[in-house]
Amino acid sequence: MVTIRQIKKFFIHLFNLAVPLSCPLCGAETEAGFNSFCPECYRKLPFIDDTQPACPGCGGVLDSALAVCSLCLNESERPWQRGYSVLEYRDSARQLVSVMKYSNSPELARPLGNLLAEKLTELALDIDVIVPVPLHFWRQCTRGYNQSQLLAEVAGKRLGIPVVNAVKRIGLRSRQAGRNRQERHRSLKGIFALRSDISLEGKRVLLLDDVITTGATLTAVSRVVLKGKPASLQVITLARTPRKF
Ligand SMILES: [Zn+2]
Ligand SMILES: [Zn+2]
Repeated sequence: MVTIRQIKKFFIHLFNLAVPLSCPLCGAETEAGFNSFCPECYRKLPFIDDTQPACPGCGGVLDSALAVCSLCLNESERPWQRGYSVLEYRDSARQLVSVMKYSNSPELARPLGNLLAEKLTELALDIDVIVPVPLHFWRQCTRGYNQSQLLAEVAGKRLGIPVVNAVKRIGLRSRQAGRNRQERHRSLKGIFALRSDISLEGKRVLLLDDVITTGATLTAVSRVVLKGKPASLQVITLARTPRKF
């Protein structure tokens, strides 16, 4: 007589054969379960040093005696109350984010989203909803997914916080390389809009993106989110680009 437990076990076994329990960086089998970092690779991730004072604008380490880091000092505005980040965008973090975005690897959102969930648990922020930075419809069609949305869903699910796609991207942005601050901000004008069927009024919003470089995109999305009159607005990114980039 075959029991339900045996059938379940059989399917779990089949699933494990199809999807090996492996570390996304070295491929080693891991005790933590499917698609989780092995302890060695986890230790080598370029975490932002949280024993140092953090910049309230981006979550990076403060690199001078000033109240914000040099990256935030170059920007005239950070429309959010506080910004956080988990990793420095270099080495394995850079590699993982690039593979997730450009090599059709949405499964990497799981270990990376878990890093965001761990950081959020540690920070114990008061949040009602997570809003991911949207991709343009066409870009999402060609990529097949929005990496920020996937990261938000993994983190939201683990923390029991709903993810709402309250912002839509209505324009495509041209290349930002070589542009100065004003040109970057001007090029993002009118690119984002609030969705009329979702209300953010009175909610404590956490805006989530994969990487912060200058913060121009997050600033443009924040301006749109603030039109929805949230009670508060904080920002988290998986990785912060160090100044040398
Ligand atoms: Zn590993
Ligand atoms: Zn900063």
